[in-house]
Amino acid sequence: MGVQEAMTGPSVLFFFVNAMDLTTLTLTELRDALWAGQVTSVVATEAMLDRIVAVDNEVKSYLTVTDDLALEQAAAADKRLAAGERTPLLGVPVAVKDMFCTRGVATTAGSKILEGFVPPYNAFVVDKLAEAGAVLLGKTNTDEFAMGSSTETSAYFATHNPWDLERVPGGSSGGSAAAVAGRMAYAAFGTDTGGSVRQPASFCNIVGLRPTYGRMSRWGVVAYASSLDQVGVFGRTVADVTAMFQATAGFDPRDSTSLNVPVPNYEAALTGDIRGLRVGVPKEYFIEGLDGEVETAVRAAINQLADLGADIREISLPHSRYALPIYYLIATAEASTNLARYDGVRYGPRVAGADVIDSVQKTRALFGAETKKRIMLGTYALSTGYYDEYYGKALQGRTLIINDFNKAFADVDVIAGPVSPTTAFKLGEKVNDSLALFLADIFTLPLNLSASCGLSVPCGFDGRGLPIGLQLIGNTLQEATILNAAFAYEQATEWHLRQPVIGG
Ligand code: GLN
Repeated sequence: MGVQEAMTGPSVLFFFVNAMDLTTLTLTELRDALWAGQVTSVVATEAMLDRIVAVDNEVKSYLTVTDDLALEQAAAADKRLAAGERTPLLGVPVAVKDMFCTRGVATTAGSKILEGFVPPYNAFVVDKLAEAGAVLLGKTNTDEFAMGSSTETSAYFATHNPWDLERVPGGSSGGSAAAVAGRMAYAAFGTDTGGSVRQPASFCNIVGLRPTYGRMSRWGVVAYASSLDQVGVFGRTVADVTAMFQATAGFDPRDSTSLNVPVPNYEAALTGDIRGLRVGVPKEYFIEGLDGEVETAVRAAINQLADLGADIREISLPHSRYALPIYYLIATAEASTNLARYDGVRYGPRVAGADVIDSVQKTRALFGAETKKRIMLGTYALSTGYYDEYYGKALQGRTLIINDFNKAFADVDVIAGPVSPTTAFKLGEKVNDSLALFLADIFTLPLNLSASCGLSVPCGFDGRGLPIGLQLIGNTLQEATILNAAFAYEQATEWHLRQPVIGG
């Protein structure tokens, strides 16, 4: 019997858990309640499904809600719980970005070219979720093939930010971020190729982790840019993200980039003690274009880390300003080859034509404007005569970025700075201005080009009441260090407790 139970008695607690809105519980609180038998997974899943019905017509975070499947999985989880099983996410309802293959459940990558595609298998990490006992609530909206920073390039609809429905939730994993922030999932998967987990987390006042490249398997995750893609995790607290990450990280022989190294006990690493932690603040992350209110909040957060005993020092990542062109050359080049497979022969719809070429052309016309643009850019960068000038140069530049991080991590344990130069912008505001959208990724992209890991943790609000995120970057496989730094910060502040007022 737990201490809490001993004090209050199980029946009293049972009453409290059932009388409250279960959607307000964090993942770890729900897990404790499930393990203690104070609530059932079916009741928690129903609470989430009701919440989706109540608010998702406005937020539009889900592309597919798997209600029947969720209730089936929840009932199975309840049986296992009743039998005394205690797998890490047993009975916890979560969401998955529509970039992950899910057996028997439509997987579109936010594109019309995959409309109707129902994978016959689960992505490795989706299988890991199932093994851990999680309940799948559904698939969340994404920019088409994860290309974007606002979730507006989805071929289906745009997702709205629960903090202000006229604004974007960020992207490309905006559906997952909005679902978690809107209390329509206890946690969710996203993908982060250039910032798509950290940036929407910062726009929605939740925690978003982008682990080291290779830490989580990408087998069964729709590819965007293979040398940059990585699975990421969203949750309302650092502990929630850690629980989900703990349960799903690890080696997968089917992903050749998967790292065959043991998964440490991340949950045990959350001590909240960061005395002596060396935190570097890159001067290149506080530049013109960084919103004043974002800068103030991030600097205050860094001071808070100092108050908690961290040793703060200014550092330099001198090649940061090249990260943007380097990233957009590499990402589009890789996207152009990855997306060559969508020819109407193997997956999704096939548009009939006079002959094979005509049919492939007509089918590929199903790609949206952003995706087509990137295929064209990438094809150009890879074409004979331009390859060395563009793609080759970008690869050389990438080495400089990697060297910057290696040098920095010789002296510091964590790098701290802003996630995004601004808070959430208005829907439609940047949709026709690619450069403005690309610039929004300026502080998130460098990490993807290197072998680092990073996260966003809530650190304040601007004058309009829009959330701001603090980015913490760690060296290769040092997720435990950044999670603990974020945990210490979170324990000392209350930003993460604020919730958007939507649907009550
Ligand atoms: N916004 C970046 C892009 O459009 C990053 C997207 C991502 O991380 N998936 O490429």
